[in-house]
Amino acid sequence: MERQCRIIWTRVIVICVLVSSSCLAQDQKPNVVILATGGTIAGAAATGTQSAYTSGAVGIDTMLAAVPGIRDLANIKGEQISNVGSQDMTVEIMLTLAKRINVVLGQADVDGVVITHGTDTMEETAYFLNLVVKSNKPVVLVGSMRPSTAVSADGPLNLFNAVGVAADPKSAGRGVLVVMNDWIHGAHSLTKTNTTAVQTFMSPLRGLVGVANYGKNDYYNSPIWKHTIESEFDVSDVSHLPRVDILYAYSDMAPDLIDASVATGAKGIVIAGVGNGNMNKPSLEAAARAAKKGVVVVRSSRVATGTVGRNVEVNDDEMNFVASDELNPQKARILLMLALLKPLTTSEIQQLFYTY
Ligand code: GLU
Repeated sequence: MERQCRIIWTRVIVICVLVSSSCLAQDQKPNVVILATGGTIAGAAATGTQSAYTSGAVGIDTMLAAVPGIRDLANIKGEQISNVGSQDMTVEIMLTLAKRINVVLGQADVDGVVITHGTDTMEETAYFLNLVVKSNKPVVLVGSMRPSTAVSADGPLNLFNAVGVAADPKSAGRGVLVVMNDWIHGAHSLTKTNTTAVQTFMSPLRGLVGVANYGKNDYYNSPIWKHTIESEFDVSDVSHLPRVDILYAYSDMAPDLIDASVATGAKGIVIAGVGNGNMNKPSLEAAARAAKKGVVVVRSSRVATGTVGRNVEVNDDEMNFVASDELNPQKARILLMLALLKPLTTSEIQQLFYTY
């Protein structure tokens, strides 16, 4: 009897030790919140080898179930913000997402946030969040190029690496990051360069922030642009942003598109110019007419990489234009929408393009 009691007590003690050490291990892991918005990472096709699929068809729990070991990296909680292909991302969803991130990261027990997102407009949401998130903690966007049902789906490893980056204290203070295909990009510099390839994101002008390798990360640099807690932009009381259109330049561009944009209510126009932000003479005249009416005109470029400089072939001082510097048209639009929330002069807006 005495022997049996001793055996039972020994077992009780062993179980207690195991349970408490697993609780301790759980407590010691970082806490990461995943906010899901949709995209191909949550996409599903009828078969594993078909190219047609529906974005945003799979919920956060199904995505997590496909990633073995992900819960060893962090304690993970998931929330669904939206479930759209990112071609349907809206300013409204972006504002909801930003506000939710600010609340979540304000909690002392949350160490980082991962946002699952379609790749089509990921650079726009990443850059927007880079300007309006009010926290130094890691914020990481992730997606995939192949749907979750594909042979060799890239989403599971991307998600694993994204959680690894969000859980890593070394990621803090580098602004909003994007993790795709083992590379860690900064929100200011990355851009999508291939319509379908798994290796689609590049940071042509500034290079990578780092690389992720099965949950372990190497950092090469920190983006130099102002972001997050240093940013002057605050959307906590904002429910919509001013309309900014992007117009694509080409040989023999029709200037009427610029006039139409102004007539239909745009407060800002970004020209995806040829070369160094150029456009033909009739379009320059239309853009100058727009600027005279108070519409802010930003010259960016349709070229994949390079800067757009002030007063090179276009006299920006005379025409009251803004040069986009390093921002491509889609990111120039994001910055201009936020800038237009404030009563700023064109030269003050130009300074924002050199700062953010
Ligand atoms: N249109 C999809 C999206 O952006 C495809 C891109 C992707 O997620 O890879 O949501």
